Amino acid sequence: MVQSDLDGPCQSMTGASVTLSMAPLPTTLVHNRRRASPHVVIWTTLAPMGRFSFLEWPVVRQLRTSDTTARSSATVSEHTRQITSRNATADHVVSSVCPYCAVGCGQKVYVKDNKVIQIEGDPDSPISRGRLCPKGAASEQLVNAPGRQYHVLYRAPKAKDWQRLELSKAMDMVADRFIETRRRTWQDADDQGRKLNRTMGIASLGGATLDNEENYLIKKLFTAAGAIQIENQARI
Ligand code: SF4
Repeated sequence: MVQSDLDGPCQSMTGASVTLSMAPLPTTLVHNRRRASPHVVIWTTLAPMGRFSFLEWPVVRQLRTSDTTARSSATVSEHTRQITSRNATADHVVSSVCPYCAVGCGQKVYVKDNKVIQIEGDPDSPISRGRLCPKGAASEQLVNAPGRQYHVLYRAPKAKDWQRLELSKAMDMVADRFIETRRRTWQDADDQGRKLNRTMGIASLGGATLDNEENYLIKKLFTAAGAIQIENQARI
């Protein structure tokens, strides 16, 4: 729109005549000035107004478009028009289950370039019907947390520094300690000869990020090994 398009009277949405004047004013003046009459005068200036453009004023946008109630395009800024959903650029979507607790809310995991970019509630889940609690809604931060560890760290007894271990070596170390502790603390019977078949030397405390399948396997393994102290932080 050029200056000649803006100069002169035109019709407002309410029927009042509106005069747009391009008379230059000091930039320190208010950008528009209205008279409480059927004739509304909008003063403006052609001087630079930073990143704001006269043409982008909501009232001017309203005059230029058919948005008579100012509840549609006239009130949408250029910035808002440029915004797209975080999910819009995803390559594909994977259905999953929230890892945090036993409610098992359904999730949709949005992936781009093999990286999780967003996790939202799955409307198709009969459990949660698209909802996630604040913890589940923030589970993308669990996946992409900058402090997330991708290597096994081991601090030997009396050592002050951590050392990185291969996963297979760490698993062997855990298995060795598990078997040795079970053997050393095994109880066949109590003082009165009643059968126990248990170990009090091994316990399991699960964390909230264990999923249902992991908890099932942990319970099965530890119970089969004779442990009776099996607990989890998140349970229903
Ligand atoms: S942590 Fe929240 S979102 Fe996740 S399964 Fe439990 S209730 Fe659902």
